[in-house]
Amino acid sequence: MPDELILNKEHLTGFLRKIANERELIAPVKNQYGDTLFEIVSCVDDVSLDLESRPVVPPKNFFLPRTEILFNYRHEGKEYRFEEALPDISRVLFGLRSCDLWAILFFDVVFQENFKDRYYLNRRSNTILINIGCHKPMQNCFCKSAQSGPFLAYGYDLQFTDMGDRFFVEIGRPGGRELVEKWDYFFEPVTQKDRNEQYEIVLEAESGFERIVDFDTAVSRFINDEVDEALWEELGNRCQGCGGCAYVCPTCYCFDIADRPVSDSKGERVRTHDACTLAGFTRLAGGYNPRHERRRRIRRRFYHKLAFAKERYHRPSCVGCGRCVEICFGRIDMIHFIRTVCEQPGKAMKASLRLGEILLDAGLISKEELKAALEKQADTGKPIGAQLIEDGVITKEDVARALGIQLGIP
Ligand code: SF4
Ligand code: SF4
Repeated sequence: MPDELILNKEHLTGFLRKIANERELIAPVKNQYGDTLFEIVSCVDDVSLDLESRPVVPPKNFFLPRTEILFNYRHEGKEYRFEEALPDISRVLFGLRSCDLWAILFFDVVFQENFKDRYYLNRRSNTILINIGCHKPMQNCFCKSAQSGPFLAYGYDLQFTDMGDRFFVEIGRPGGRELVEKWDYFFEPVTQKDRNEQYEIVLEAESGFERIVDFDTAVSRFINDEVDEALWEELGNRCQGCGGCAYVCPTCYCFDIADRPVSDSKGERVRTHDACTLAGFTRLAGGYNPRHERRRRIRRRFYHKLAFAKERYHRPSCVGCGRCVEICFGRIDMIHFIRTVCEQPGKAMKASLRLGEILLDAGLISKEELKAALEKQADTGKPIGAQLIEDGVITKEDVARALGIQLGIP
């Protein structure tokens, strides 16, 4: 079986019908309100598949459900008994977009880098991913800038390219080959003309983006502490703490875990999505909240997505899907944020960096100490000098001397 094939569009429903007869099929469906959402499709003929729009909500809920029971427990005499609820349904997720698929690859790293999350990994290993490359980037998409689309080189089981009356099908991981080999009578061999046409479509898609954003500059300004402090105040005033940006973001994965009693002797441990812009996200037992101000929460969101992810995973955790652009009524989204940061390097924060550099040059602090203080500062919002004093790295006198040098005061 070759790695590239043609599926005439008239055979798509038949192919999906076969899949739905054997496995759970999830696909983008336009509902009665005109919204496109990923849904479980039990009968392909009863729904209106929508392969033209980006679904409103990413498919992450099928891997990390909004709410899930991790296990049930019951109290018997002096003992507790536990019953785990591990998911094990075989599924095919059809009609993914490259940005969302890339986000799943990102989750693959997050959910097994230290602790292996069996709930996520079970769902993931039981799901075959069929991507549809974006031949026409949508208005707010910027996956090209995020290097997560519009077509992928790997990660998919099958990748489709829409070529009008047919799909150009690329086989990636073994799950895709299994489907194609099983129902090979739906597929035809590709010709060189098909290959050339598909190549043209990919090139045209790459040049069709209205939104280009400069991740590298934004990340570097963040890491070098050059974001103007006033920006957080401004964004904090505009953010209403609704959590919408995290709920629609394919790469946001924060969750909360709680035990919920069901009866006097039974209960369940439940995991639910959480979001760093929500007021209670960092509230501790006893009521203290280190990020009770909205400016700190919004700062944390962007710090996590750009600087933290870059340092930890070597790329920002934004795949350029554009959903936060459409959901936020305060216009606090990744495109606006990156543009603002790139256009207005903050004087106050540049000063922080210079102060850090002066202390570094004078041998009063090490690079590691400065880096650690800058990371804490992202949370606390304190001036860098105050942060270093609090960390016990330098004294007030050291800061005064460095400030004197910075301001040109002998
Ligand atoms: S940034 Fe916008 S979408 Fe996100 S929590 Fe604030 S108001 Fe809601
Ligand atoms: S930050 Fe916004 S554009 Fe980036 S992946 Fe999340 S929702 Fe999409």
